[in-house]
Amino acid sequence: MSPELLIVGAGPAGVSAALWARALSLDVLVLEGAPAPGGQLHAVHFHPPDLPGIESGAGPDIAASYARQLARQQVPVRSEVVATALEPGAAEGAPAVRLSTGERVQARSVLIATGVRRRRLEVPGERELEGRGVSYSATRDRDSLKGRRVAVVGGGDAAFENSLLLTAAGCDVVLLVRGPARARPDFRRRVAEDPRIELHEGVRVTHVLGDSAVTGLSVTAAGDEAERGVVACEAVVVKVGVRPNTEWCCDVLAHDAEGFLRIDERFATTVPMVFAAGDCTRPALPSIPVALAHGAQAAAVIRAALHGR
Ligand SMILES: Cc1cc2nc3c(=O)[nH]c(=O)nc-3n(C[C@H](O)[C@H](O)[C@H](O)COP(=O)(O)OP(=O)(O)OC[C@H]3O[C@@H](n4cnc5c(N)ncnc54)[C@H](O)[C@@H]3O)c2cc1C
Repeated sequence: MSPELLIVGAGPAGVSAALWARALSLDVLVLEGAPAPGGQLHAVHFHPPDLPGIESGAGPDIAASYARQLARQQVPVRSEVVATALEPGAAEGAPAVRLSTGERVQARSVLIATGVRRRRLEVPGERELEGRGVSYSATRDRDSLKGRRVAVVGGGDAAFENSLLLTAAGCDVVLLVRGPARARPDFRRRVAEDPRIELHEGVRVTHVLGDSAVTGLSVTAAGDEAERGVVACEAVVVKVGVRPNTEWCCDVLAHDAEGFLRIDERFATTVPMVFAAGDCTRPALPSIPVALAHGAQAAAVIRAALHGR
């Protein structure tokens, strides 16, 4: 098993690259840690409104169509196999990827498309009360949160949008932002105008409180640990950003302070014949269309690198 192109990750970027690699007659193998392709689409519990040509269907429906397309194009996909290490090839030699199965797969080229995962607060009580008041998606959990007093933690678009979704579902919302709010101006304006949202900036959550269900949050002032308080709530929605799934290859590839991979305009990393695409490269607009475009372009660049055209 030594494909011309080994793609790690079958989210939109990896799937797009795989389909284009097939169309460009490259011998390709896809590795995916999850049971099925789709990546973050499995967490998109609504119809993404900004995808041209896709008029209906939530993320999991689109993910299912990815699986069908890969099968139709006879792209080999190994699911539930996690890449655990990257080995650069010697000089111009082929890189290799170590797998959770103990195998080592050498390939003429590797495309890393491992995306991102949500960040947690990493405070006591959070994991213990997950599913019993601790939520990571107001869209998914809207029915169980309906009518409650909910704290939303985060300062970006997702936190502000989730707060608005929750008040539309009859909730009272306490929105806790650690630093300055980064959400787009339209969301900030709508939050400021919504009488059911209390916005508190400069607040850091230190504990999720509750025994069998969430009863509140312990907080401190972001710049002054001595200033403490409790925010009473029946649930908390955590929207504090994402982190890249790059720990397995960061030791050999250049990356930024948060672990996002550095690539050039041809999707090349700092190791020969290792490329990266999609959210794990911190694109200006992390999104399905950008990941699809990255994957397609990367496949074309890799074909040119392998075959000179
Ligand atoms: C709730 C939510 C709503 C969103 N809404 C929209 C929207 O409306 N419109 C829009 O355009 N975008 C939206 N997005 C963003 C969009 O889903 C992402 O930008 C896109 O999925 C990125 O694709 P990707 O292929 O780069 O990464 P991902 O989708 O993250 O896929 C990466 C894949 O790599 C796999 N993987 C990770 N590590 C390994 C490993 N070591 N070995 C093997 N496999 C591995 C993962 O299991 C995953 O399948 C939303 C995202 C979320 C979470």
